[in-house]
Amino acid sequence: MEDMGTAVVGGGYAGLAAAVSLAENGVPVTLFESSRTLGGRARGLICNGERLDNGQHILLGCYAETLALIEKTCGAAEPFSRIRLDLSIDAFRLKSLPLPPPLDLLAGMLLSQGLSFQEKASAIRFISRTRRARQDADIAVAELLRQNRQSEKLVRLLWKPLCISALNTPIEAASSLTFQAVLKDGLDGAGSDIIIPKVDLSTLFPLGAANHVRDRGGEILTSTPVRAIRKKTRGFEIITDASSRSFSHVVAAVAPQHLSRLIAELPEIKGTGHFAYQPIYTTYSRYPDAISLPRPMMGFSRGLSQWLFDRGTWCGQKGLIAAVTSSEGEHLTLSHDAIAKKVHEEIGRIVPGLPLPLWQKVIAEKRATFSCTPNLERPAQKTAVPGFHLAGDYTVGKYPATLEAAVRSGLSCARLIVSS
Ligand SMILES: Cc1cc2nc3c(=O)[nH]c(=O)nc-3n(C[C@H](O)[C@H](O)[C@H](O)COP(=O)(O)OP(=O)(O)OC[C@H]3O[C@@H](n4cnc5c(N)ncnc54)[C@H](O)[C@@H]3O)c2cc1C
Repeated sequence: MEDMGTAVVGGGYAGLAAAVSLAENGVPVTLFESSRTLGGRARGLICNGERLDNGQHILLGCYAETLALIEKTCGAAEPFSRIRLDLSIDAFRLKSLPLPPPLDLLAGMLLSQGLSFQEKASAIRFISRTRRARQDADIAVAELLRQNRQSEKLVRLLWKPLCISALNTPIEAASSLTFQAVLKDGLDGAGSDIIIPKVDLSTLFPLGAANHVRDRGGEILTSTPVRAIRKKTRGFEIITDASSRSFSHVVAAVAPQHLSRLIAELPEIKGTGHFAYQPIYTTYSRYPDAISLPRPMMGFSRGLSQWLFDRGTWCGQKGLIAAVTSSEGEHLTLSHDAIAKKVHEEIGRIVPGLPLPLWQKVIAEKRATFSCTPNLERPAQKTAVPGFHLAGDYTVGKYPATLEAAVRSGLSCARLIVSS
């Protein structure tokens, strides 16, 4: 007998968001994930007996859909730490104040440290303009900043780190419209809150989501790569190593670089061959429990470590420091040993008397996200093939490659299927 439910291919945040929403709406759903672990590019792992992630992630208060799904599905009592915006990059310090928006940020900027009064006024003008921004032409962020007369220091200490963190793309190549969309939501009241998971990224959403789907009669199949998807007279055939099953709808929720193979037999669907990718490296350094950073999250405008996170403060892992290096740069030419050594030296510059680390682990995600460049054509969730949908952080949406973009795309696919 034919299965006429929905197949979701890919168990990252996009695929699981789709599966949760479909199952809640009574649609029979089967999710196929090639890996043993759910979570895709946001997954937990164990290293030297410690709970780590494939990369240190940060969520913002404006990630409304992701936070709502985590609240609904995560079994942990307190899945994350949440604080008001508090940025520290070199000598620059910006804290949002407990005032109604936009005064929280404007007053915070006026009282910030490390910038001249003119630079603060110039940053405030740029933020205000961004809040009002209409759909201008999509240009490089560097050009937008030039047009808005942002000084070299402002760019180095504020806009460049924010752009690389949000879009994972150098300012010379990053999309101004996407950057402005992130600033608009991410610098607005509670939208700017910084949220760091206390649990690993698989526990934060994927594992609870899988239970939520199973409780509603859905199926979650891990270690089950989909080898091909064929169109039939009615619906689709999903081919794995062990079976061939039929479904009325498909949500392909794989990363863009894995899509071409899946849609090889569906020529009507445009591929993602025009996408370029950017890396993110995370270096974990384990020190004795007594070691901590002067602040829980510290940014650096020069050097290999762009951000350091004190995992003791954020998630109770005392003595564990995560260093994040996003986008292109010197690290791509270095060995993991050389990266680890450099990160240790950089931590040593802000922690006096730092002992040698007990261990270090460099995790290089070479294709962490797509390059978020101006006028990039991102495919819609609804495709030219009725019943076949695309989910993933690269599909159309206002945010760059983030957990929120992934979740929103999955929910959008579910809505399309439910309404059909
Ligand atoms: C190191 C790093 C740091 C990041 N930091 C942040 C951050 O701080 N904040 C933020 O919001 N975002 C961050 N991101 C981006 C975020 O992780 C991604 O945008 C998001 O996880 C993408 O989810 P997705 O579901 O679209 O894709 P993926 O997570 O890639 O999921 C696709 C899934 O499909 C599976 N798959 C592929 N082919 C098949 C097949 N043939 N059959 C079955 N399954 C298949 C894969 O195994 C994978 O599980 C970071 C990413 C990385 C890598």
